[in-house]
Order: sequence, then C-alpha cells, then structure tokens
Amino acid sequence: MKTLFEKIIDRDIPAEFIYEDDLCIAINDINPQAPIHILLIPKKPIKMLSDCNDDDKDLLAHLFLTVGKITKKLDINNTFRVNINNGEGAGQEVFHLHIHILSGRRFHWPPG
Ligand code: 5GP
Repeated sequence: MKTLFEKIIDRDIPAEFIYEDDLCIAINDINPQAPIHILLIPKKPIKMLSDCNDDDKDLLAHLFLTVGKITKKLDINNTFRVNINNGEGAGQEVFHLHIHILSGRRFHWPPG
C-alpha cells in the first residue's frame, strides 16, 4: 500500500509543489506551523530516519543540500528551522521520511 506521500508524489492526491527532482519533492504542509512550512520528501519510501543505512548516504546528502537550494530560492536562507520527527513519541504521524522546513517567524528553544 502506498504511503500518503507516495500518493502525493504520484499525483493521486493534490498538493502545492515547491520543488521536484529525480529523488525528492517539496510541498507546502497542509497544516502549517509557521508562515512557511515545507515538507521535503524523498521519493524512496523510507519509513523514518532511523531506518536509513549506508545505501541512503547519497540520498540524505541530496536532501540536506536541497534544503539549502529551497531556502535560497525562497530567500529565507538566514532564518529557518529544519525538523525531522522520528517515531510516534517524537510526533511522527506520516511514516514516510520527511524533513520539515519552517520559516517566517521566530523560533524558540527547546522545542515542545
Ligand atoms: P510528521 O508529524 O509525520 O512529522 O509530519 C507530517 C506532516 O504532514 C504534518 O505536518 C501534517 O500537517 C502534514 N500532512 C498530513 N497530511 C497531509 C496532506 O495530505 N497534505 C500535505 N501537504 N501535508 C500533510
């Protein structure tokens, strides 16, 4: 069965696309927690960050370099937050690895 994000990647479910390449997509989050809230999602349906292994080294590097590309393009390069929820206890709801990119407001530490 496809994950929610695979359905979005395959255009079975609509989403606002910000970016796409061979390895990943970026879409606007449906329930934004900041004025800018983007989800960067690998096309490979890895369940969560802790499931990654050495085979995913290039993909993970690509994802983080793509964060930089997107934040540069949106002119938010100076202030943004990147977040990955790993597992239910950490707030993960969709079990297909994704990186939250948040910007447009002040962030606090520690996070909730
Ligand atoms: P998680 O809690 O798994 O780290 O993040 C899942 C994110 O996916 C949440 O921020 C949630 O708002 C977002 N989300 C859930 N369903 C949809 C959807 O159908 N479309 C989009 N664009 N985002 C979604």
